[in-house]
Amino acid sequence: MAKTTLIIICLNLFSHLLSAQTIDLLLKGGHIIDAKNNINKKMDLAISNGKILKIDANIPESDAKKVLDISGMYVSPGFIDIHTHVFTGPNAGFGHGSSSVKADDFTFRAGVTTVVDAGTSGHKNFSVFKEEVIDRSKTRILSFLNIFGTGMQGTAAEQEDLNVLNIEKAFEINEKYPDIIAGIKIGHYSGSDWKPFDDAAALAQKIKKPLLVECHITAFSLEDQLKHMNSGDILCHAFENVEERMPLVDENKKIRPFVWDARKRGVLFDVSHGGVGFWFNQAIPALKQGFGPDTFGTDMHHNSVNSGMKDMLNLMSKYLNMGMKVEDVLEKGSWSAAKAIKRPDLGNLSPGSVADIAIIKVIDGKFGFLDAGGFKLEGDKKFQAEMTIRAGKIVWDLNGMAGVPWEKP
Ligand SMILES: [Zn+2]
Repeated sequence: MAKTTLIIICLNLFSHLLSAQTIDLLLKGGHIIDAKNNINKKMDLAISNGKILKIDANIPESDAKKVLDISGMYVSPGFIDIHTHVFTGPNAGFGHGSSSVKADDFTFRAGVTTVVDAGTSGHKNFSVFKEEVIDRSKTRILSFLNIFGTGMQGTAAEQEDLNVLNIEKAFEINEKYPDIIAGIKIGHYSGSDWKPFDDAAALAQKIKKPLLVECHITAFSLEDQLKHMNSGDILCHAFENVEERMPLVDENKKIRPFVWDARKRGVLFDVSHGGVGFWFNQAIPALKQGFGPDTFGTDMHHNSVNSGMKDMLNLMSKYLNMGMKVEDVLEKGSWSAAKAIKRPDLGNLSPGSVADIAIIKVIDGKFGFLDAGGFKLEGDKKFQAEMTIRAGKIVWDLNGMAGVPWEKP
C-alpha cells in the first residue's frame, strides 16, 4: 500500500472517530425549507449541543445518539410570531394581566419557538415583565417596547396619558437589553397629537429597530400614518375590516395606491390576526393582487386563541388554502419574520445557529377556517406541528416520534 493512501485512510478513520456520536439528534429524510440558505429539498439535519451541526444529503446514522425518520415531513426553522401579548399577571387587562397568555402554552404546539410581545410593557413595567415572564419562559420572548411607559393596559385612556411617555427611559431599556428589545410600539392611541407617533418613530430610527404600529390611529388618515412610517416599520392588522379604520383594500377590492407606495418604500405589513384583525374579504383580494403579508404575527391573546385565530399554524394554514405555496408560507413564518425584527441569527438553519426547529406535516382532509368576522373558508389541507425543537431540546412531540415503545424495557 502506498504511503499516501495509508495516510488518507488514517485521516479518514481519525475524522470518523472525531465525528462519531457527536450528533445528539439526527433528523433523517425530511424536506428542509431554509430560505436564508436557499435550501428547498430532502436532506438530513444534525443537531449537536443545542445547535445546528450540519445539513447534508446523507448523514450516517452511526454518528448519532438518536435518529428520527421524518420522511414526508417538512423541516423549517422554528416560527417567529412577531405580534403577541404574553405579559401575564394578576391585573385585569393586558399588561401584567389576565388578557395576556402564557407563551409556552400556545407556541410549541404550533411550531413557534420565538415570540415578540407587542408593547404589552413599557419602560415602567418592563423589569417586571422580564423577571416574571421572559426569564421563566422556554419560548424565546422578545419585546416591542411600548412608547407609553405603562405599556398596554387595554384601555386607550391610560395610553393617552402623555406623562408616561418618556423617550429617554425607553432608550435606556433598549441600551440595557439590546437582545430582548426588538423595536418600539405605538398603538391604541386615539389622541390627535402626532408627537407620540413621531417620537416613537424617531426612537425606532435611533436604535435602528422597527416601529410597530398597532390599530393604526383613528385620528389620522391611513395614508398619513404610512407616510410617517419609515422603511422597516411594521403596520399591524393589515387585512382588518372595521368601521373605525380604513382598510387597505378599497370598495373595488383594489389595494389602495398609497399602500403599494408604502410597501415599495419598505414599510412592512403584518397579519396581526387577533380578535378583529383578519378578514378574508380583505386578505383574499389582496393576495390575488400579489399583496400577501410580510409576516404572520398572530396578535395572540386570551380572546384570539379561542376564536378564528387559534394559533400561528392555523393562520399559516389559512394562507396555504388561499393558494400560497408551502415554502412561501414557511418562509414568512420564519426567515421573513427574523429579518423584520432584524435578527438574522434567528429563522434559519445555518450550521452554528441555535437549533430552533419546527417539523411540519401537511395533512389532507376537510377543514374550515374562520376569520375575525366569523366568515368561513373551506380548505382541504392543514399544517400540523409534529415536533418542535427549542435550542436542541424536543419541546413538543405530537405523536411520540421520539418515544420508546412501552413494551421495551
Ligand atoms: Zn396586539
